[in-house]
Amino acid sequence: MASRDPFSEPFGTLFSENFTIAVGDGDDYSYGGSVEPLRDLVLSPATHALHYGSTCFEGLKAHRQPDGGVAIFRLDDHVARFRQSIAKLYLGVPDAELIRQMVIDAVASNVADCPDAPGSLYIRPTLIGTEPNIGAAATPSKSTLLYILNSPVGDYFAGGIRPLTLLIESSTPRTTPQFGMVKSGANYVMALGVTLDAKRDHVADQVLFATDGDITETGASNFFLVDDKTLITRNLDESFLHGVTRASLLTLANELGYAIEERSISVEELLAWSESGEVFLSGTAAVVAPVGSLIADGHKVQVGDGQPGPNTLKLREALTSIHAGTSDDTHGWMLPV
Ligand SMILES: *Cc1c(COP(=O)(O)O)cnc(C)c1O
Repeated sequence: MASRDPFSEPFGTLFSENFTIAVGDGDDYSYGGSVEPLRDLVLSPATHALHYGSTCFEGLKAHRQPDGGVAIFRLDDHVARFRQSIAKLYLGVPDAELIRQMVIDAVASNVADCPDAPGSLYIRPTLIGTEPNIGAAATPSKSTLLYILNSPVGDYFAGGIRPLTLLIESSTPRTTPQFGMVKSGANYVMALGVTLDAKRDHVADQVLFATDGDITETGASNFFLVDDKTLITRNLDESFLHGVTRASLLTLANELGYAIEERSISVEELLAWSESGEVFLSGTAAVVAPVGSLIADGHKVQVGDGQPGPNTLKLREALTSIHAGTSDDTHGWMLPV
């Protein structure tokens, strides 16, 4: 890695020196079994992914452990979701074992780059369709590239946790209905327009998508309501991304004695909840991000006292202490590398 400090660089702008890469032909992938120095890719200007969006990715993390090693959080769950995204793009689906090994090899070769908590080594498995064919708009790409990029990251909340401002968007959807569960590039550019407008016109940090009043998630994070007794989040369906952080928080909250409700949440309920309850977002990058205010129909509404609430911080701590290896990993979520 460059000698730059992940704690003073923006998230995702530093890259480790090594990566793993495999070439795919349909469901067959050839991986040399060794890491390579990170290099630029040579692609035909006609590459399928560049024209027709045949690209998807995953995002997970390795965390520094008290014994000095590193451990990867819920690798198998991320591999499973990656394979699901790949299948939705009609690209050749690599064996789970191959993806797993390529992630482990990449992380093992970049272990020295993993910062101490609250930093981590962010892992970005990526798959692109490489068929050089601009006539293939209605045909999947048979040839692909699969690679695992590593990025040392600092604290997402450098300078302390800052409660976010979310603009509630009830008309423009985040993505197309059939792609809600896919971590594919097009979803994120689709959400850009409303997000840029929300930042410019309302100084919002992110957009909360609530198409026809049904709250799902933001552009890249799942959504929760919590108070002293209950944790509420949207029930799973194909409309949104099924976060591994979301699933982990539900498990931990249940163990901490919260009642769990997975169901639809309306904008009216959110606004009423905000008078005394807490609101937060979850995802691999930010882990748990408190929401301090909402913008609904042009009006700003404060959530509670506008500060991170005690239940939000308690759930965050329950998860980050497992990441850091300072509390017991009773679920077998951490894989030492
Ligand atoms: C990645 C992502 C999430 C969070 O998923 P995690 O597995 O918790 O990182 C939520 N929503 C969207 C749209 C995402 O892309």
